Amino acid sequence: MYPALQKEIETYEKRTPQSREAHHRAVRRVPLGVASNYRYYPPYPLFVREGHGSSITDVDGNQYIDHNLCYGALMAGHCHPAVMQAVEERLRIGTLFGMPHGMELELAEEICARYPVDMVRFGNSGSEVTMHSLRLARAVTGRGKIIKMEGGYHGGHDAISVSVKPKGDQFGDPENPTPVVSSAGVLKGTTDATLVAPFNNLPGVERLFARHPGEIAAVLLEPIMMNIAFCMPDEGYLQGLLEIAHKHGALLIMDEVKTGAKLAWGGACEYFNVKPDIICLGKSIGGGFSLAAFAASREIMDVIATQKMFHAGTYNTNPVVMAAGLATFRHVLTRDAYSHVDRLNRKLVDGYQRIIGKTGLVAYSDGAGANGALLLYPQRIRNYRDWYHVDEDVWTHYWFAMVNRGVLAQPYWWDEQWTVSVQHTDKDIDYHLQVFEEVAPALATAQQERAAGAPAAVSQ
Ligand code: PMP
Repeated sequence: MYPALQKEIETYEKRTPQSREAHHRAVRRVPLGVASNYRYYPPYPLFVREGHGSSITDVDGNQYIDHNLCYGALMAGHCHPAVMQAVEERLRIGTLFGMPHGMELELAEEICARYPVDMVRFGNSGSEVTMHSLRLARAVTGRGKIIKMEGGYHGGHDAISVSVKPKGDQFGDPENPTPVVSSAGVLKGTTDATLVAPFNNLPGVERLFARHPGEIAAVLLEPIMMNIAFCMPDEGYLQGLLEIAHKHGALLIMDEVKTGAKLAWGGACEYFNVKPDIICLGKSIGGGFSLAAFAASREIMDVIATQKMFHAGTYNTNPVVMAAGLATFRHVLTRDAYSHVDRLNRKLVDGYQRIIGKTGLVAYSDGAGANGALLLYPQRIRNYRDWYHVDEDVWTHYWFAMVNRGVLAQPYWWDEQWTVSVQHTDKDIDYHLQVFEEVAPALATAQQERAAGAPAAVSQ
């Protein structure tokens, strides 16, 4: 760790003693002191007290403009009034029945109006619905194997816990990546059924189909890879994948857990004009509540309708999250809201670009819809192998320096990105850019000194 980074971390520690104390206590009972491994980072994570609109306050009383927004699950921002009102009304008349109630149909209609699908099943998390989307593809095709992209994240279940963040000494040939299991405890045979392709590389997918004729049920991918910061598909790539999958009798599953609500009114399907066979939705569709869904054509969903495929869940469509989901679709994710977040996000990306140009930082900023990121890489990344070379220390320096000045620029980890909510304002974006302008010269200096091989001096 170089001195300027060390100094930012010391400042963080001075500003957040209550978080340190809370974390110290939590590790006694909660592994790593957090409820999801992503939430831990050294020296300790911020513990949060409350959130309103576009900001949160930590347990020390520090306020931050929040672009983490629960890993992008809050395009609504915190406590959106329309969502709060809908939920408060539901709280008084029953929160859980495990019986149908009619809001399923209402929300399914909202989803079918926006995305190219006919039928919907609901769940509670992105992981659940990507898991069931794979079961659905296998049930429909009668095949076992799936293809996922190297560096793609789709949740915590075994089938996709392969090549999520594989290391350089394991991942092999970039054209033909070695499948690498990403956690202890994942069933060993998983990698027999999960094949791994490089993103933005159609011949790589063709080769897998050629090697496993008649065995592959589906290709699963995020249309914009947002678990390697922000990586756009090449022009025509998604359409090409769809063609290849269909040519070989397989389905295309688009994981729109992040893009579905945040990229555009009709998600990535609308944005890229593509009609996948199955879509997965989650995160921001719930307006701050745990709502997810998978959806497809009537023909595909028929395997559930005819009871060949089983899908269930005690908490599915509980009235509280359904009320939140309906309010979110009807009052938050409106066409006007997309114009608002698009404009603010464009201002943020362009502002970053201007500051990058001025300071000579070797980096660029990219974004679409409500999301964007700073990428510490000389040119636009096209896949996981490009992203793998991002300088973690300089990124960590960026993150802590922003946090110390009141901007939670994105979730911790350089594989994430910022979200702009409907409750962010021009004032928030102006302040964010003002802080980045203050921080960027030190990052550029650190890059130069690291490139020259000298230990970076503490910059003031
Ligand atoms: N798919 C994608 C693209 C995701 O980014 C995530 C979570 N970051 C998931 C699935 C899993 O969602 P959840 O954490 O709600 O299980």
